[in-house]
Amino acid sequence: MTPFDGHAIAPETQAFLDQPHKLLIDGAWVDGETNETMEARDPATGLVLARFAIGGAGDIDHAVAAARRAFEGPWSRLTVAERTALMMRLARAMNDDAQVLAELDVIDNGMPMFIAGLTVANCVEMVDYYAGGIMRIEGTTTAPPRHVAAEAEALTYTLREPVGVVGQIVPWNVPLSTAILKLAPALAAGCTVVIKPSEETPLSMLRLGQLILNAGFPNGVVNIVNGLGSTVGAALAEHADVDKISFTGSTATGKRIVQAAIGNLKKVSLELGGKSPVVVLADADLALAIPGVAMATFFLQGQNCMAGTRIFVHESIHDQLVEGLVAFAAGMTLGHGLDPSTMLGPMISDAHTAKVMGYIDGAIAEGATLVAGGKRLDRAGNFVQPTIFTDTRPEMAVVREEIFGPVMTVQKFATDDLDAIARLANDTPFGLSGSVWTQSLSSAHRLVSRIRAGQVSINCHGAVGTNIPFGGYGQSGWGREFGREGLDGYLETKAVTARL
Ligand code: NAD
Repeated sequence: MTPFDGHAIAPETQAFLDQPHKLLIDGAWVDGETNETMEARDPATGLVLARFAIGGAGDIDHAVAAARRAFEGPWSRLTVAERTALMMRLARAMNDDAQVLAELDVIDNGMPMFIAGLTVANCVEMVDYYAGGIMRIEGTTTAPPRHVAAEAEALTYTLREPVGVVGQIVPWNVPLSTAILKLAPALAAGCTVVIKPSEETPLSMLRLGQLILNAGFPNGVVNIVNGLGSTVGAALAEHADVDKISFTGSTATGKRIVQAAIGNLKKVSLELGGKSPVVVLADADLALAIPGVAMATFFLQGQNCMAGTRIFVHESIHDQLVEGLVAFAAGMTLGHGLDPSTMLGPMISDAHTAKVMGYIDGAIAEGATLVAGGKRLDRAGNFVQPTIFTDTRPEMAVVREEIFGPVMTVQKFATDDLDAIARLANDTPFGLSGSVWTQSLSSAHRLVSRIRAGQVSINCHGAVGTNIPFGGYGQSGWGREFGREGLDGYLETKAVTARL
């Protein structure tokens, strides 16, 4: 086996891999309190990429203390113009480093390069967007309270102030992107941050830490503590001097975060799992719907919170749609993310592959019909074929639970009643995303208004964007990220009344 299946990485990426990988606390790269390290691996080949330092609860204490000092000191003394300039400098540095950042996510996470390139470009855009938003943070004026106004002239206005020291815990599925969409609005709001990347994918965040230091951010504004969720993540979530925790990950861990946050009632925002519906009405344009529905499930090999994995199709076009989806799946190239022809990369780990294969075997045992894929490839790495089941029923585990793999379930319906169709789509504890495929403007908008999810698209799926609010209904989360609402999540409102 050759490294990266024979594909080359840039010399700068190799040089980064060869460096020591430590924790970033108070502007310095340090070893963790226990001197422990973990391996970062290429999930497409199993190759060890690097060893990185992991921290413990004591390192979280140091990082939170550094973030507090930076919050009360240099970071809050910067002018708005200086904070904006720093963020814009970071965006330019990320843009100049785009190849390295993208390659690190490809080799650490397994994602195909076409996705990594897109996410790095989106990350640069997001830092620019929130940098540009700093000068637009505005309060309001309003009528003073009756009892004050009765006695004297008075003035009431609101101030928007940073929440304070923020803990951010992110998953492995889109490592740089899930970090930046928390970091950028937090820094724009004037918060300081302790971030914990996933232990599966530490590398792009460590590279970003170097860019943050080089851009000239004061010490302690951004601290990076790698490590396990059960130790480092838990210590951050329960820390008494953290004002807010922003978490992206599974619904099960999200519930633990809420419990850990109770001690000091820190603010909590949660971006959690999904099991999103994709509804194909009888009049859908199949030339559009077939690739669109396939990619709704298979994008990022299904390791995607927005994945549209529950397909509901009108019985009149069921067979045609399924035939098209099976052909599309058969044409998808699985391989190393550095190979430009790759459409599907590997699962993140052996353990996760076993979980995905367990759902596939379970669906077969429960009587679903396997019409595409269903196998783990017999090669190094964790490759699972794009898999499609028909004859699935709402109570099957493969339909109900988030699998986080390339597994699609198809169910057909006979009705044209949009309320009945919406009930099928809404039969889930989640509510993150969804899509509707039809040529009828009227049916599209009527159905969208009936689907309980934070983001519903028409004739496309997973339409996220820097300026578009994103988050979940139900057990898919609390709060919104992206856009103005993403910035609001890091701001408090203070009402001021002056008796003049
Ligand atoms: P996970 O919940 O296992 O881990 C997420 C992060 O939490 C990791 O950094 C992990 O180390 C940490 N963690 C684990 N246990 C913890 C604990 N007890 N206390 C504090 N932190 C802890 O999730 P994952 O497997 O890394 O990611 C996949 C999940 O993330 C899926 O459910 C997916 O839907 C979800 N996700 C959601 C969004 C969204 O925007 N809604 C985006 C991406 C991923």
